[in-house]
Order: sequence, then C-alpha cells, then structure tokens
Amino acid sequence: MSARDFRFLELPRKMPKELPVQVRVQGWSEIYGSFAPAGATAQAERCLDCGNPYCEWKCPVHNYIPNWLKLVQENRLFEAATLAHETNPLPEVCGRVCPQDRLCEGACTLNTGFESVTIGAIEKYIVDEAFKQGWRPDLSNVVATGKRVAVIGAGPAGLSCADRLARAGIQADVFDRYEEIGGLLTFGIPPFKLEKQVMLTRRLVLEAMGVNFHMRTEIGTDIAFEQLLADYDAVFVGTGAYTAVDANLPGQALPGRLEALPFLIANARQILDSDLKPAVPMDFSEKRVVVLGGGDTAMDCVRTAIRLNAASVSCVYRRDEVNMPGSRREVGNARDEGVKFMFNHAPIAIVGSECVDSVRLKDTQSGVEKTLIADIVITAFGFRASPADWLTTHGVALEESGRIAVTKAAPFQTSNPKIFAGGDNVRGADLVVTAVHDGREAGLAIARWLKAAKVTQAELLTA
Ligand code: FAD
Ligand code: SF4
Repeated sequence: MSARDFRFLELPRKMPKELPVQVRVQGWSEIYGSFAPAGATAQAERCLDCGNPYCEWKCPVHNYIPNWLKLVQENRLFEAATLAHETNPLPEVCGRVCPQDRLCEGACTLNTGFESVTIGAIEKYIVDEAFKQGWRPDLSNVVATGKRVAVIGAGPAGLSCADRLARAGIQADVFDRYEEIGGLLTFGIPPFKLEKQVMLTRRLVLEAMGVNFHMRTEIGTDIAFEQLLADYDAVFVGTGAYTAVDANLPGQALPGRLEALPFLIANARQILDSDLKPAVPMDFSEKRVVVLGGGDTAMDCVRTAIRLNAASVSCVYRRDEVNMPGSRREVGNARDEGVKFMFNHAPIAIVGSECVDSVRLKDTQSGVEKTLIADIVITAFGFRASPADWLTTHGVALEESGRIAVTKAAPFQTSNPKIFAGGDNVRGADLVVTAVHDGREAGLAIARWLKAAKVTQAELLTA
C-alpha cells in the first residue's frame, strides 16, 4: 500500500458545492454542483483500492469503480470516460440520480467509519467534463452488419439498448410517443435532480453514434406493432410502467386533485418550452398543497410544488419516516426546502363541494381522524405495469402482474424470440440504473441472437 492509499485519513468526504436552499427553490437548476478537476482528483484519491470492491458488486451495472477512480487520480479523463461507458451507457445520468447511499456508496469499505468515496459525483464529473473537452464514444472500429432493430421507448432501457446495438454495428431506430428522448429521465425526474440539458446532450451523442430517433410516434397508434416486426430483424420493448396505483379515495375526481405523473410531465413540458406545455402556465401561488405518498415520486412532487411558489407544501405518509420508500437524501432535501411531513397518517377521503378544500386523514397509530386544509392534492401512490394489447397478440407472455415475462435462456428475450424487453415493463417500477442494466444486456443479447457482433469476453463478463 502506498501513502496515497491512506488519503482518506487526512481528506474528508466532500461533495461538490450545493446551491443554498434560498437560491435553489427560486429556480430549477440541479442543486448539486460539479467537481472542478482538482476536487474530483482529491476525492478519487480517497479510494482505498481495498481489493474487495463491494461498490462494484452493489452497483447494478457493475461499474469498474476503483479503476476509473484511479484514472481520475492520474488525470486520464478520456480513458476514464471510455471505461465508464463500457459498463454504463448513461453514466452521467446514474451519477446524478442513483440512490448511491443504498448502492455503490453504501457498500464502500470506507462507509464504516470514514464516509464513503463520492462515487456518484465523480461518475457525473468524468462524463460531463469529458464531453466538455470533446470526448465522444469511439465507434471507428465498428463494422456495419446490415441488421436493423426497432427500439420502442426512449427511456433509460431503450437508450441503453440502442447504445449497445450501435456499438455492435446494428442500426437502432428508437420510437417514442413523447417529443423528447429520456422517458422518465426527461418527463418524470425534475431538473433539480437532472437538468434537461443532460438528455439533450446525450441525444446528440447517440445520434452521432448512428442511432435514429422517431419522436411523437406511438407504436400501436401511429405505427402498428406488426409493421415493426415485418420491417426489422428484432424489436426491443422498453415502454416503462405507467399505470398509477389508484387508492380509490372518495372525492378524488374533484378539481384540484392531480395525479403525480401528469403533473410532473406538464411541468417538464413547461420547462422545456414544448409546444405541448400547459396553455395556462402552472403556478401554485397562494395554494396549500398536500402530496399523498412517500416514495421518490412524492418527493419530486413536493419539491416541484415548492418551486411553483406554493404557500405551503405537506407530505402525508401512512407509515413512519424510517419506513419511507423515498431516498433519505431526497427526504432531507425536501425538508430543507420547507416541506412539512406528516408521518403515520393515511388519507381516507379528499373533501370539497366544487373543488378540493381538504383531506380527511386517519392517524394509523391512534385511529384518530383529522382534517388537513388543502387547495391542491397530488396523489403519488406508485406505478404498476401497463402492458400494451399488442404484446399478447404477438405471442409475448406476461406475468400475472402484467409485467413482461423474459426467458432465462437469452437475457431479456420474451416468449416471442424476435421480441426482447427490459426496464420497468419487466421489473415493475424500479430504478434508472436497473433499466440501464436491462437495456445494455438486451442489446448484447440481440446482437448475439442476430449473430451480428463478435461479442467480446469483457462484454460476456458483464452479462
Ligand atoms: P421509462 O423511463 O418510463 O421510459 C419508457 C418510454 O417508453 C417513455 O418515454 C414512453 O413515452 C415510451 N413509450 C411507452 N409506450 C410507448 C409506445 N406504445 N410507443 C412509443 N413509446 C412508448 N429512479 C432512480 O434511479 N432515481 C430517481 O431519482 C428516480 N426518480 C423518479 C422520479 C419519478 C417521478 C418517477 C416516476 C420515477 C423515478 N425513478 C427514479 C424511476 C426511474 O425513472 C424508472 O425506473 C426508469 O425511468 C425506467 O426506465 P424505462 O426505460 O424502463 O422506462
Ligand atoms: Fe453508483 Fe449508480 Fe454509478 Fe453504479 S451506476 S456506480 S450504483 S452511481
């Protein structure tokens, strides 16, 4: 071990600068800044190179974390960017939105006693900085195979699949019903976690790799699924999970009650200045907003409501704080930004005559009922699978839950061998990084199935 291996003793964990609360709630910028090169190098030097990289194993895409940390220490930025992309087609996204405390950083050896390495922030730094300096994925050795694959859905699963197909010399045509790529990265996750520019840059990178995007094109409506099956050598379905869990609350049809995802989508369109943005700009001035639910979607709703100038924002969750499904970091950020939490309270009705005026709640411990005044109620109870009709009519088997069933023999191949699937439509609502994993593996599996690519040992090892 060298002296450098003990840097963590003298150098504490330090995240990039955070926007002060008073500033960040006035706008939509990401609240975490970026490392300057010296800061990234210093934080990368905290890696112990412990020999048991639990961080790698806990990372769902098994990033070569200690290896790219070493490259950052040695100022070999472009090599770090190339290595980061070997395992992760969207590293700058995962570096921003992964719940690192539960994944790589939670498993870091230093986490017991010395605070983990800032793995996510360094992953973001590597790619942002490499892009800024002109680095791009090098596909100069890729030989075109003449094969073509249709990818349905431009979310993280579809984009990761398209990336791997392009690297295997397969033409990827990505179809999405939305006007921009990203799926929930663009239309769900708000810009204070992931600025819109990140996906706009990634679109340019993927297009330069040869990926074609067909936006505002809904498969099953604008183009029949059988048309894709006829025109392409294989199809990847990365359509996500969009059925909102319905609590069937009395009064939920009242004006003033909003569903989480349509609310976040409308806000994203307003920020993107899309032609589909709301006719009347969204503004919650003087509104008392209550968000029902305790997951990441609920946290994104409360923090969005704060930025829309709400007079007050409360989050009601039926269990205690320890059992909240939302990331600890996001709960802390919401609290810092002025959100009030009511734990151990379950909603029993949304109340009002012509529009919402309150929510009736029950204390889940004492059974006592109470009323919380509200002008706007946003329900965020999670999402279930939303399988399209055209899947089963083309021989794609579904699980009982509606999720797409994939075979064990070829990763992410469905019961129709020409159709592959991955991401939330296979797992149920999950994480960006697991969707990235599935898209990556499905892209490789398609390449093998089409025998289009000489699949390398390194790729097999990450499969
Ligand atoms: P999606 O991202 O949903 O993409 C599916 C795409 O398919 C969409 O663009 C959709 O328009 C398109 N599509 C669907 N049907 C069709 C069709 N018939 N024709 C054409 N296009 C179609 N995860 C994290 O790791 N960290 C977070 O901080 C985080 N925050 C979240 C916040 C919110 C509000 C939500 C809802 C989820 C969050 N998640 C987070 C979860 C994460 O976003 C998802 O797990 C991930 O995006 C799933 O990726 P996907 O590619 O499977 O699906
Ligand atoms: Fe950590 Fe996510 Fe990056 Fe893996 S992809 S190293 S879990 S931030």
